[in-house]
Amino acid sequence: MRRKLLLGNWKMNKTVTEAKEFASAAAPLLELAKAHHVDIGIAPSFVALEAARKILPPDFIVSAQNVNEHDHGAYTGEVSIPMLKDIGIDWAIIGHSERREYNAETSLACNAKIKALLSAGMTPVYCLGESLATFEKGETKSFVAHQLEEGLRDLTPDEAKKVVIAYEPIWAIGTGKSATKDIAEDVIGFIRRSLRERFGAVAEDIRILYGGSVKPNNVREYMECPNVDGALVGGASLTLDSYEELLRGMI
Ligand code: PEP
Repeated sequence: MRRKLLLGNWKMNKTVTEAKEFASAAAPLLELAKAHHVDIGIAPSFVALEAARKILPPDFIVSAQNVNEHDHGAYTGEVSIPMLKDIGIDWAIIGHSERREYNAETSLACNAKIKALLSAGMTPVYCLGESLATFEKGETKSFVAHQLEEGLRDLTPDEAKKVVIAYEPIWAIGTGKSATKDIAEDVIGFIRRSLRERFGAVAEDIRILYGGSVKPNNVREYMECPNVDGALVGGASLTLDSYEELLRGMI
């Protein structure tokens, strides 16, 4: 049985002060989530990770939004896995479409990060999804299959089991134009079948989230889809009221 997961991706929002305020107020939500077998978490900016981690209870996931695959060295502006582990962070979002677009991250670059995270005992949330042009050409599945193949290249079934996948059609991110639940289930079901072909039975244990304009008023629809195991949420995760409503829509 896969546990549902609500993960808020804050992107480049909230100062450390704002993150502390949110974390202090959000901490009690963990009990509600646990009572309904839902995992919850937030992904603040690097500078706010430590403060959020200190405030939130250990089972409340605090995730980075990216990481560098090298342990240390001449990589100006980057943050390493040992740096994250040192402040108690053991999750990282990898390959968000904004990083693919603005930082030219490829699926093979994501693969190096995912392998490094897994070696360190951390949980990668691997994001994939197609552009509007790819969607309109009807090439979503072949595009996503390629991202999946490269991003998870050379992983063993045991390693693949520890990855969380997030299907986020780019045309739905931050646009208010969400994919219908039928589209989400169709693509996520396809992703699960592809995982089964590659990794066997562990595919049934791998959590696959939907992301793209998930809001309190549509989250329940996605949660009714048999293959959708939760949501990666940007905009609607930024206020406590909306974050709590998202959680209530998942239980
Ligand atoms: C995201 O940042 O991953 C995302 C899905 O954003 P939004 O919910 O704002 O579309």
